[in-house]
Amino acid sequence: MDLKVIKEIPKELLSCNVKDIHALLEGPTIIHLSGKKEDALFVGALLHGNETTSFYSIQNLLNEYNDKELPRDLILFFGNTLAASKGFRHLPEQPDYNRIWEKGETPEHKVAEQVLDYVSSKKIFASIDIHNNTGKNPFYGCVNYTKKSWIELASLFSKQIVYFTEPSEVLSNAMAQLCPSVTIEAGQPGEVEGIKEVFSYLKTVLNLEGFNENFDEMEAEVYHTIGRIMIDKNASVDFKNELAGENLSFVDNIDENNFSLVKKNTHFGFSKNLESIRAINNDNKDITEDIFIIDEDSSLKSNRMFIPAMFTKDIYIMKEDCMGYIMEKMIPLKL
Ligand SMILES: [Zn+2]
Repeated sequence: MDLKVIKEIPKELLSCNVKDIHALLEGPTIIHLSGKKEDALFVGALLHGNETTSFYSIQNLLNEYNDKELPRDLILFFGNTLAASKGFRHLPEQPDYNRIWEKGETPEHKVAEQVLDYVSSKKIFASIDIHNNTGKNPFYGCVNYTKKSWIELASLFSKQIVYFTEPSEVLSNAMAQLCPSVTIEAGQPGEVEGIKEVFSYLKTVLNLEGFNENFDEMEAEVYHTIGRIMIDKNASVDFKNELAGENLSFVDNIDENNFSLVKKNTHFGFSKNLESIRAINNDNKDITEDIFIIDEDSSLKSNRMFIPAMFTKDIYIMKEDCMGYIMEKMIPLKL
């Protein structure tokens, strides 16, 4: 598998369905379009094949500039086109395309290296990687550095910003070495509102003269992840909030806590023990007992105050990636 680089938009891309993308591009592809300014906006799309907001917001952007000169170069990277054509995050035999941006042995790692080689040889103004999630979350941006322009870039999308360092093998972290870089989470896949927001965000950044030296990062709402919640692959999970056998039975609205403060002793559901639900910190150390407690009625409760993010009710995602993140509010350092 090799990275394909093209310099023109295939005409069909302006109107096709996301499922046709693989027939059109035949694999991971960079489309480098030239604009007025040379310092390019880099945009990551479809790293997760079922997260279609990236595709449709880019399609809108390409149509908007179809008969106009782009304000600056635009480098689009379409990642997992094969999974996108089938509506999957990734196929069972493929790695997760947002976990291949550090050294590794798979053909997909090689493609990631080729992408980074390509962008390293260009002037890059900013990098935006577009994602969706499965739970109820506000739109938000994620940064891997708390430097001023990185936070400014994220704040142009949403007031709510998440700083994370793990997982480190994500595209936004690799790009953050080169330029202000953000991962944006634009709600659930393919929703019209998300597509509109991302389209207008891409247009804004494309037209930005430069980053604002006077931007005050203290005004931004920055959270940082202190850990992830993992669910055992063999656990039986439901959302009935009832004590039954060995089930992990969550409250039905578990994803409505996202980005709000959860107090100590908040009830999350029922479980006989803490074996099938684990919390791990950024160093992969087990912090389950710091985060959760099971009382004498088998109620699964928070053992401390925290802010959940990306809590999902999608059992596949829960087991394959994680159930969600544990966050705290932070004050960005003046850098
Ligand atoms: Zn994603």
